[in-house]
Amino acid sequence: MSRRAGRHFLQIPGPSNIPDRVLRAMDRPIIDHRGPEFGRMMKELFVELQPLFGTRGPVVVFPSSGTGAWEAAIVNTLSPGDKVVMFETGQFASLWKKMADKLGLVVDFIPGDWRHGADAAVLETRLAEDKGHAIKAVMVVHNETSTGVTSRIPLIRQAIDRANHPALLMVDTISSLGSVEYRHDDWGVDVTVSCSQKGLMLPPGLGFNAVSAKAIEAGKSNRMPRSYWDWDEMLKSNSAGYFPYSPATNMLFGLKEAVMMLNEEGLDNVFARHERHAEATRRAVAAWGLDVLCLEPKEYSPVLTAVVMPEGVDADKVRAIILERFDMSLGTGLGKLAGKIFRIGHLGDFNDLSLMGTLAGVEMGLAVAEVPHKRGGVQAAMDYLAGNSRAGH
Ligand code: PLP
Repeated sequence: MSRRAGRHFLQIPGPSNIPDRVLRAMDRPIIDHRGPEFGRMMKELFVELQPLFGTRGPVVVFPSSGTGAWEAAIVNTLSPGDKVVMFETGQFASLWKKMADKLGLVVDFIPGDWRHGADAAVLETRLAEDKGHAIKAVMVVHNETSTGVTSRIPLIRQAIDRANHPALLMVDTISSLGSVEYRHDDWGVDVTVSCSQKGLMLPPGLGFNAVSAKAIEAGKSNRMPRSYWDWDEMLKSNSAGYFPYSPATNMLFGLKEAVMMLNEEGLDNVFARHERHAEATRRAVAAWGLDVLCLEPKEYSPVLTAVVMPEGVDADKVRAIILERFDMSLGTGLGKLAGKIFRIGHLGDFNDLSLMGTLAGVEMGLAVAEVPHKRGGVQAAMDYLAGNSRAGH
């Protein structure tokens, strides 16, 4: 293919666009990860990471993708044969469940229609019935990236508390951290799983576990074999600013810069920005006469919007046309949603004009692909953005 001028529009729901500042921070010679400069940097960075998770406890950083951090959460706290409750909110919840099966957990997978979040009422009933406390953990995906539905973690916490149940609460914030309000400590979460390539605006390559004292305690007697993922080894080394094995040093340079950028903008402003772009996107979708996949307005994702294609239209053909004609990547439909939806990512390093460019590309693509729709989505989004000034300004 011949060279294309201008920047590619990467509007998948992660990896998100990497800001130049982060790229520049990573573009430097590597340093000795056992030397004093590294130790100093990491001691600071471990503390700087805490507010992002809403915790005063430790945040473990692995050189891994999010999937590795999922595995670390399980192997450090649970034992083969343990019963856990998970929710079928979409493809990522289904993959985490598959991993739990493989690791020998007995999963009570609460069915879902992939258009709603985790059901706290069903959870409360399950936990209330479990008089013998056989259920050891409740595991939820906060922002289901395959559907654009954000589960309400405070409701999940309330359900656990109302049933007076001691199960651990583990939450996947892989596509919500740094984009959507999140409070590990206040919401009584025991393990928060996350990674680098979404709200944190980095390439894939860092996995995170924020861990509660209760989770660490569970790890003292659980029987899941582990070595690479072991928190114990990690936390011992981390306390001096080091790692038990080679860390992803240049990714950590990038992380430091990304955390600084989020703090400069202010986390509340970052969250408000994501909400505002999501609302503008939904107004565009409504003006096109199309449906958003998420059926519960209280669970609309601030990070991405999944757009349902009319019966008989192949969403992947529309995406292919948009890529070919306008050099923009949109998210594909995953699992049982393949061909039925496409996903617009509006997360990370993103502003009003990035959104307008994105929506213009979608609207032009719908026309070129001859998808039955009405015009005026871009206009509806513009009207909303122009009428609602930026958060914090
Ligand atoms: N969980 C969620 C919600 C995700 O969106 C993803 C990836 O997009 C994963 C887990 C898996 O993370 P990774 O691809 O970094 O292993």
